[in-house]
Amino acid sequence: MTVVGLTPLAGEPAANGDDCVACGRCCHHGPQTVHLLESDEVRMGKALPVWTELHPPYFRFVKNEGEACGALDRSVPGHYPCLIYAIRPEDCRIVEPGSPCCLEARRLGKLGTSVEFKRPASGDDPGQGPSSSR
Ligand code: SF4
Ligand code: SF4
Repeated sequence: MTVVGLTPLAGEPAANGDDCVACGRCCHHGPQTVHLLESDEVRMGKALPVWTELHPPYFRFVKNEGEACGALDRSVPGHYPCLIYAIRPEDCRIVEPGSPCCLEARRLGKLGTSVEFKRPASGDDPGQGPSSSR
């Protein structure tokens, strides 16, 4: 599907994630974008079937709703809290405010191709991810 996304946002966001709820651009993307690791599945526990779906044989993704993550609350324009912030997957935690992926998402109004869903090297802080203040 082609994701149109939101309007672009200029400038750099606050490094501490204070701008994330008002932004929400990196949470706008197509289906099968936010992939779950086994550790994510354990963290989600009973919430797993509510927010995610299995793509056989063994890939699990956060559900999408239209052009955005299904866990993104879009009920109030300009206010985009993550409904599962405390148990969000590692993919989301890796996207840091001010990172190339974040800046691209703000420029495009949606998640772009520069996102790298991979764990940082051992010992590195995985960061607060998108929406660190959500
Ligand atoms: S991390 Fe995501 S929600 Fe936060 S400012 Fe960047 S694009 Fe917006
Ligand atoms: S931070 Fe929350 S709303 Fe955004 S992509 Fe991850 S799970 Fe979805």
